[in-house]
Parts: sequence; structure tokens; C-alpha cells
Amino acid sequence: MPALPEPIQNLITAFERLPGIGPKSASRLTFFLLRAPEELSTKLADALTALKSETVMCPICFNITSAGREMCEVCADPKRDPASLCVVEEPLDVLALERTGGFSGRYHVLHGVLSPIEGIGPEDLKIRPLVERVREGGVTEVILATNPSMEGDATALYLRQQLTPYGVRITRLARGLPMGSDLEYADQNTILRALAGRQEM
Ligand SMILES: [Zn+2]
Repeated sequence: MPALPEPIQNLITAFERLPGIGPKSASRLTFFLLRAPEELSTKLADALTALKSETVMCPICFNITSAGREMCEVCADPKRDPASLCVVEEPLDVLALERTGGFSGRYHVLHGVLSPIEGIGPEDLKIRPLVERVREGGVTEVILATNPSMEGDATALYLRQQLTPYGVRITRLARGLPMGSDLEYADQNTILRALAGRQEM
């Protein structure tokens, strides 16, 4: 059987490593790009390169921000309340919460959730820097806004355990969010309700 030319096979293999993309989708995307105007693959390649080279993680909250900035826009904004800290799984959750305009505190992005099945432990997430932030003082409330899923709940419980010794108020978003849902896909009103109805943990 004749093999596919190497550049084609390489792209298929690269696509296959993306979440939610199987071999079939990987081939379809590759051959789509092969037929599409060259401009499209050039733009895609440029965007992919810039994705890593022109963004950095905020050293305080671990949100993603443009390269060259010392910290993200929220951390740099003196009007944002440093006493209220909202802990989320992913940078997209920050965007979802910011869109509601209902939160004036600061964030901490974990970059995932605890998942024993996938071998993700506390050391793989930004948990230690979170505990450090709380330990340093100035924070009076930590809102645990991990997704309402099994992993999100388990992560919130673990964080509560880690943060309890520091005497801060620890709350969890209200159950306006359906179990198993994703913060980033929830509509603004649902997030606002969940934020307003947050409960002590
Ligand atoms: Zn930040």
C-alpha cells in the first residue's frame, strides 16, 4: 500500500493529538487544508506560532495575557478588590465571569482539575501558588468556581481543606449551574445567579 506523503501524514498525526479529534477528523481537516487556498494555511500557521510566542501566563493569577505585560489586566487594575479571590479551572472561565460584569475581585486560574483517572494531582495544578497567595494575607474570601462536575467538586473540596487553616471565608458557586456543565458555556444570567447565591463550604 502506498504511504501518504510525509507532510500530509505529519499534519494528520499532529491533529490526532488534539482533544476530541480522532483519526477520521484528523484526515478530513488535513485534506481540507490541502485543497483550501494557501492563505488559509498560512494564517493558521501564523496564528499557531503566535499562540505560544506572543502570550504569557500572568505570574500572579496564571490567567493568559499578552507577552510583554508584567501581569494580566485584572491583576494590574487597582480598582479590583484583592480581598475577594475567585478560583477557576481555565482562562476561558475568567472570560465567562468577566462577561457577566458581576464580579469585582481577582482570579486564580488552576489550569485543570484534580483527576486521579487521568493522573492529575495537586502538583500538576496551580494550587501551591493559590495557597501561597492566601497565606500572604489580604484575601478574605475565596470563591471556588470550579465546574459543577465530579472533578470540579473534588477539587473544590481539596482546596477547602488546604485553605481552611488560613481562616478565610470559603464559598462555592450556587447550584444554578447544572451538574456536569461547563462555566465557559453557561449563559451570563446563570453565572450571575450562581455567583450571587454562592454558599459557605
Ligand atoms: Zn493576573
